[in-house]
Amino acid sequence: MGAKYIFVTGGVASSLGKGIISASIGKLLQARGYKVSIMKLDPYINIDPGTLNPYEHGECYVTEDGEETDLDLGHYERFTDIRTSRLNTVTTGKVYQEVINKERRGDFLGKTVQVIPHITDEIKRRIQLLGARKVDVVVAEIGGTVGDIESLPYIEVVRQMKYQLGPHNVVVVHLTLVPYLSASGELKTKPTQHSVKTLQETGVQPDVLVLRTERELSQELRNKVALFCNVEARSVVQSVDVRTIYEVPLMMSRQHLDETLLNKLHLDPRNEPMLDDWKAMVERQKHPKRRVKVALVGKYVELPDAYKSIVEALTHAGARCDCKVDLDYVQAEGVNEQTMEEKLREYKGLIIAPGFGDRGFQGKILAVAYARTHNIPLLGICLGMQAAVIEFARNVLGYPDANSLEMDHSTAHPVIDLMEQQKGITEKGGTMRLGAYPCAVTKGSRAYAAYGKTEVSERHRHRYEMNNKYLQEYIKAGMVPTGINPEMDLVEMVEIPSHKWFVGVQFHPEYNSTVLHPHPLFIDFIKAALTE
Ligand code: GLN
Repeated sequence: MGAKYIFVTGGVASSLGKGIISASIGKLLQARGYKVSIMKLDPYINIDPGTLNPYEHGECYVTEDGEETDLDLGHYERFTDIRTSRLNTVTTGKVYQEVINKERRGDFLGKTVQVIPHITDEIKRRIQLLGARKVDVVVAEIGGTVGDIESLPYIEVVRQMKYQLGPHNVVVVHLTLVPYLSASGELKTKPTQHSVKTLQETGVQPDVLVLRTERELSQELRNKVALFCNVEARSVVQSVDVRTIYEVPLMMSRQHLDETLLNKLHLDPRNEPMLDDWKAMVERQKHPKRRVKVALVGKYVELPDAYKSIVEALTHAGARCDCKVDLDYVQAEGVNEQTMEEKLREYKGLIIAPGFGDRGFQGKILAVAYARTHNIPLLGICLGMQAAVIEFARNVLGYPDANSLEMDHSTAHPVIDLMEQQKGITEKGGTMRLGAYPCAVTKGSRAYAAYGKTEVSERHRHRYEMNNKYLQEYIKAGMVPTGINPEMDLVEMVEIPSHKWFVGVQFHPEYNSTVLHPHPLFIDFIKAALTE
C-alpha cells in the first residue's frame, strides 16, 4: 500500500503555528505506531533559506545531510525524534530550477512548459518521493497563507493529488484564526469562513479545521463553523494558547484529532497513543522545581526565532533537570567594557550565539572574557566558539590583534582561519561546510563526561575554523581541544579544564536536541549553571 498524505494549510494570518500542528500530527500518528515523515513546502523563490537574513526567515535549520532548511524542520525533529533530510524540504526555487534545467536539456520535447502541469508535476514528484520511502503517512505543511499568489501551485497539487489518489489517501487540515474582539466580547468566525471559501475556490475542501484561538471555543461556535465550512463537527478542533508548544499534541489528542485523521485515511487507529514519556516531560516543564537564569548573547536578540533551536534545546535540557531556564537575550552590540558587568552579572550561565559578520562580535568576545574570568559556565556555539578562541588569544596568549579572517583580513594572528576547502569558493548558496560530521571526543574531558562516548556526530554550518598552527600555544596556556574531526584534523571542541564549565563547539549541538533526547552538552551546561 502506498503512503497516505496529510496536507496542512493555513489561513487568515501567518504565524498561527502550522509547523507545530504538523509536528503534533506527526507525533500523534507516530505514537500510534505509524511511520511518518513530515515535510515543508515553501512557496518562496529562494532555493533554500541559507542565504536569507534571519530577520526575514528566522533560524536556518540544517539537516544531517547538509541541507539548509526552514526552522519548521527543527520542530518536526524535536517532536518525533525522526531525522529529516533534503527530501523533507521543497521550495519554489528548487522546483523551478529543476524544471528549467530539464527544459534546457530538451526533456520536454518541444512542449510549452507551464505551471500546470510541469511545475505541479515536479512538486508532486518531490512529495511522492518522500512517500516512497517506506512511510505510512507523509505530513506536508504548506508555507504561507491560502490566497497568496505564490502558494497557488501547491494548493493545486493538493487538489490534483486528492483527485488522483482518492479522498482516503489525501486529507487536508486547514489552520485558521478565530480572533476575539474585546470591545464586543465576541469570538469571530467570519475570517475562517472566508479562508475556507478561498480554499474551496481553488477546488480544495478541507477535511479538518484547526481553529487557533486565545479563548475556549464553545461547541455551538464549532458547530457553526462546521456547518458553514462543510466539515463534520468532530473535525473542527480548537488550538487554544498553551504554556508550552509541547502541550499541543496532548491538546490535539484530547480532541481525537489523530483518530479523526486515521478514520478519514481508512487507517486503523490501533491502540491509544503511547505518550507517557511525553506527558512526563511536559509535566516537568510546567512544574519546575527550581529556576536558573541564563543569557544568550547574540546579534538578533529582538528576534528569538533566529535562535529557535538553541532556545528549544535549553527548554529540553531544563525539563530534564527539573528546572525552568529563564532565558534573557543580551544584545551583543550593547556589551562593552562599561556595560559588561551590569549586563551579565546576574546570569549563572552564558551562551554565546552563532552568527556571521562583524556586528556585535566585539561584545561576544567581551562576554566570553567575563564568563572566563568570573568562572561562569559558558557554551560557545560556532561563532561563539570562535569568539572564545579569539578572546583567549588576545587576553591569555598575549596577541591583542588576534582575530578571525572573517572579521579582519589582515590580522597578523588569524587564530580562526578560512577552511582549506572553502578557499576559492565564491558562490554563497549552499557552499559552507554543512551537515553532520563525526567528532572524536577526548576521554576525561567535560564533553566526554556529557556524551559518555568518544564518537559523536554533530551538524555544522560554517566556513571558518580554529587555526591548528596555534594549537600547542593554546594547550600550554590552558585551553585544550577536546573534540577533533578524525578525517580532517579540525578542532571541533575546545575547553578550559581549570574553569567551572567552559566549552566551545564549532558545530551546532542545538540541532540534535529533541524533547525526549535533550542534548548532553545542554544538559551539562544547565547542571553546571545550577551548581553554586
Ligand atoms: N561565521 C562563522 C563561520 O562561517 C561562524 C558560523 C556560525 O556561527 N554558524 O565560520
